Amino acid sequence: MTLLLELMAPFEAHTAMPCTDEDPELFFAESPSDIELAKLVCGPCPLRQECLAGALARREPHGVWGGELLVGGEVVARKRPRGRPRKIVEPAIETPSREVAA
Ligand code: SF4
Repeated sequence: MTLLLELMAPFEAHTAMPCTDEDPELFFAESPSDIELAKLVCGPCPLRQECLAGALARREPHGVWGGELLVGGEVVARKRPRGRPRKIVEPAIETPSREVAA
């Protein structure tokens, strides 16, 4: 019986994973609010640490794993929005004006 319980343990853990009840797209969302929602879904998961450790070991390119947002295989606080990077505005350099002799 003990062996049977040990064999069943991974399946019981699987049913306890909150992400199995959610749309998988939520964990690869672009919007900050959906990303935060995915992190909250992971909160009570009993496999949180293993999930994050596995994602870090695989260097997952993106997504919420173990309650953390990964981008490029690393945990980041938030995702940069798509699109062009911000324009860096250089400070204006003042040039000395020439005085025209009359
Ligand atoms: S920690 Fe991993 S296994 Fe658990 S709910 Fe989140 S994504 Fe699913």
